[in-house]
Amino acid sequence: MAGTLVVATALDGTLARSALELLGGARSLDAALGGGVAAALIGHGLGLVEAAEILTRHGATRVYRAAHPALTAGQTDAVLAAVAGVVRRTAPAVVLVAADTVGRELAPRLAYRMRAGLLTECVSLGADGEAIVATRQVYGGRAIATLAMSSRPVVISVKPRALDAAAADGTGTVEDVAVAIDEAALPTRVQEVVREQAERGLDDARIVVGGGRGLGGPEGFKIIAALADALGGAVGASRPPADAGWVPITWQIGQTGKTIRPALYIAVGISGATQHVAGVSGARTIVAINRDPEAPIFSLAHLGIVGDYREIVPLLTARIAAQRGG
Ligand SMILES: Cc1cc2nc3c(=O)[nH]c(=O)nc-3n(C[C@H](O)[C@H](O)[C@H](O)COP(=O)(O)OP(=O)(O)OC[C@H]3O[C@@H](n4cnc5c(N)ncnc54)[C@H](O)[C@@H]3O)c2cc1C
Repeated sequence: MAGTLVVATALDGTLARSALELLGGARSLDAALGGGVAAALIGHGLGLVEAAEILTRHGATRVYRAAHPALTAGQTDAVLAAVAGVVRRTAPAVVLVAADTVGRELAPRLAYRMRAGLLTECVSLGADGEAIVATRQVYGGRAIATLAMSSRPVVISVKPRALDAAAADGTGTVEDVAVAIDEAALPTRVQEVVREQAERGLDDARIVVGGGRGLGGPEGFKIIAALADALGGAVGASRPPADAGWVPITWQIGQTGKTIRPALYIAVGISGATQHVAGVSGARTIVAINRDPEAPIFSLAHLGIVGDYREIVPLLTARIAAQRGG
């Protein structure tokens, strides 16, 4: 095909949202470089029928659907075998993979198998002539590196939430591909999947309230959770609360945590270090509550409130709850 192949995963039975973001990136590359856009849909379960339809609607003109019960989040070896099968068949010039738990492991192994170039953890994609131009954070998030890749094939991993999702204006065809996986030969055995209850919703929440070291301890998170509840949003954190065990590590936002793109992000007791800001810069509106008027977060925030969060947050929560009630 010589165009761009998006690795779209549905490893828990439903299509990962990152697939639509990768399709957005693939379509912009295709507009500059041509060759077409296809998707390798990897997963299991009845949800793959709908997932394939979503992919064609969002711009994959051909979807190669690889279904097998072993294609789950803990089985990168199986996922690699399935993706490599589609790659052998389609010989794409560019393969886009989400830089998530599975993709971080998949991308280099796939690139090695394809004898391809590799760009990882990219946050933007474009083209300059024949070269693909991507950016990624370096030096702990303090600088952005611009990388140009002229050789093909190339595997590129893209951070979730970094690209805009593709528009739903396309049509395409779906082809089932056979996957030969010897489950007994897989080196990893998944025995139990434990999901953090509280993590649910942070990735896709329209409103996120983030708490930092300034909350002083786990009790502070109860105060901001009440605000998040009143707003119908989710709670996240900077790194110190996660490191200290005040909240699950999966709540961490930033360079080494999640990248989120909510409509509204409220940073409470967070100073605004570059490594934290790297995870929230895509938020449409940022509100900061901090008792230090010189805190760097205020230079990023659209609205800032200077003061002790223990006074401000309960007032805000009460006002919002009253408005929602009335
Ligand atoms: C390689 C690397 C990767 C990293 N990755 C991440 C990452 O993914 N995510 C991340 O968040 N960090 C990350 N960090 C850490 C980062 O550099 C900062 O140390 C961290 O973000 C600071 O967290 P904070 O803002 O909660 O704490 P602090 O910087 O300590 O800020 C606390 C803030 O709370 C305010 N405050 C205190 N009391 C109150 C009160 N009562 N009311 C209101 N405000 C109050 C203070 O004025 C202060 O501004 C990383 C660092 C490195 C080196």
